[in-house]
Amino acid sequence: MPRDRYPFELAPLPYAENALAPYISKITMNIHHDRLLRNYTDNLNKALAEYPRFQNSSLTELLQSPALLPKDARVPIMRNAGGVYNHIFFFDHLRPPVKENRPSGQLLEAIKAESGSFEEFQKEFKENAMKVFGSGYLWLVADEAGRLMLYPTANQNTPVTDGYCPVLAIDVWEHAYYLDYQNLRSEYIDAWWNIVNWDAAQKSYMACKKF
Ligand code: MN
Repeated sequence: MPRDRYPFELAPLPYAENALAPYISKITMNIHHDRLLRNYTDNLNKALAEYPRFQNSSLTELLQSPALLPKDARVPIMRNAGGVYNHIFFFDHLRPPVKENRPSGQLLEAIKAESGSFEEFQKEFKENAMKVFGSGYLWLVADEAGRLMLYPTANQNTPVTDGYCPVLAIDVWEHAYYLDYQNLRSEYIDAWWNIVNWDAAQKSYMACKKF
């Protein structure tokens, strides 16, 4: 378990860099994790270096209260804390390819309650992921009552800041798919369903329902 406060360390991938192939290639995962997440982690430490008062805050605490952050460092802290949080969340909710990859249990029931069926949910999720303009993410989040909704964020903004509890996320920055799919976000989303870690999503959903 990596440290959840300053100085932050690069969180390891929970699988090998080539484990998501052929849906996401080893080179994409290497750049995405070892270069991009490392940059966000290093830059978050740099942003916090001169602010000892915030060096004991967890990632979530930093993200939940931007108004408390020092005015001069708010932008770099939020950008990089978001980049660290979002990437760890995204990577932790992927796994090696599974045939007939589907949610189960309470998460599947909640998905059916909102969308009618898993297939309809996939359709809605893809439509909304396609609509994220520029760089960002599409999230499945739970609100305070445990109800699911789709939630787009731009850049490295995160639903945590807006009071929502993340269940699942797709990174739709072009760096997540350009080497494998060029500009074809649609093909990347279709491939991504094969490597969604529904067990992790179920755990996240159950954790959301506790608050
Ligand atoms: Mn990314």
